[in-house]
Amino acid sequence: MFTRKFKGVLIIALCLFTALFFVGCGGATGNAEPSPSPVPSEPPTPRPPDIEHVIPPIEGTATPTELPAPPQASDGSEPATSTEPATSTEVSLVPYNGIVEHLFFHPVVAYPELAFDGDAKEAGIDEYMVTVDEYNKMLQSIYDKGYILVDMNDVWEEYTTESGGYAMRRNTLMIPEGKKPLILSYDDTNYYEYMQTNGFTFKLFIGTDGEIWSYGLDPEGKTVISQDLDAITILEKFIREHPDFSPFGVKGLLCLTGYEGILGYRTNKDTKIHTTEFEENRQREIEKARPVVEKLKANGWYFASHSWGHINLNTASFASSKADADRWQDEVASLVGPTKLMVYPFGSRLDGDDVKQTGEAFKYYHSLGFRVFASVGIESFSRIKTDISAVICDRMHADGGTLRREPDRYAKFYDAAEVWDDSRPVEGMYGPRKW
Ligand SMILES: [Zn+2]
Repeated sequence: MFTRKFKGVLIIALCLFTALFFVGCGGATGNAEPSPSPVPSEPPTPRPPDIEHVIPPIEGTATPTELPAPPQASDGSEPATSTEPATSTEVSLVPYNGIVEHLFFHPVVAYPELAFDGDAKEAGIDEYMVTVDEYNKMLQSIYDKGYILVDMNDVWEEYTTESGGYAMRRNTLMIPEGKKPLILSYDDTNYYEYMQTNGFTFKLFIGTDGEIWSYGLDPEGKTVISQDLDAITILEKFIREHPDFSPFGVKGLLCLTGYEGILGYRTNKDTKIHTTEFEENRQREIEKARPVVEKLKANGWYFASHSWGHINLNTASFASSKADADRWQDEVASLVGPTKLMVYPFGSRLDGDDVKQTGEAFKYYHSLGFRVFASVGIESFSRIKTDISAVICDRMHADGGTLRREPDRYAKFYDAAEVWDDSRPVEGMYGPRKW
């Protein structure tokens, strides 16, 4: 089929260049040869999670969690008095069995002048990320076009078959009349260290007002506590202002690796450093990450595995895939809880291809409780597997690449020309934009 073949080409390109990008930015390599060691595809050794090192102390200030939260929203307006989602009883719900669109983002660029500064990371950030300005316009457009946010966990469910086995089936969603369901997901919300010098926020934390804030440094090195610079806090704020965008209280799916911890906290173990100091520091990071996880969950965010080491599961050996999955369970699921959602790094499907086959690694993930396996594609494709109780699907990608080259395909969400940020380089990874 044309779309399938085309999609294959796209995914290969995406995998290749995302791999190059992550290799370049300190991520685990996606094409390492399988290793017989218990921890294959060893990523670069993370720096010890020294908070004072990650966050340069600013004279007269404290670490983020000790900072008083601003009394007002950063735009000067009063914070919303209630974050309660609009109750579904206020609108009439109708059954929906059509396509559930799924759009994903990476972390957004808070400071384009740091991201697009001509260094080695520029092309990758330009290709795979959007800026805060673009993201704001995208959310507004998505909302204006009648989408509402739904939880990916609600789209399919596992049931017992007549023969006593298990299978997945599509649920009929009940949604407000006239609306269209949308899943938003956010890959690599780990706040990798390379991002700190490339125009991104550094971490999330809970302010004394109980809300989620981002911490980071502006281009002059000054501390910035904000809700306007991070994809997560921006969506939180947008829904406070437009509660009918989230009629069920759902926000987005956060897809986490583990090799540099989660959410800006260096919670990862290190197989090379076995000092008491390292472990004590790690435990402190875990204690800081826990309330952030709990607050995110309470606010409607939910989690997926994005593998521990951002490995290429398409080519990884079974031993590598298994060891990586085990490590994610140990270091990430232990903090965010169990999930049945697996979001492939590089969009790279387990065992080479989970569409045509169900391989050993896929079965291993299944044994860990994973049921929905998401890749990347040109449409919000999904298929219920018949040989095992699982769903495979694709997500569309909101990024510089599709802004440059596929405005028509994404017109159902936003107008590329309207959201385009002129701070982007003229020439992208694949040349100038096509419009
Ligand atoms: Zn990723």
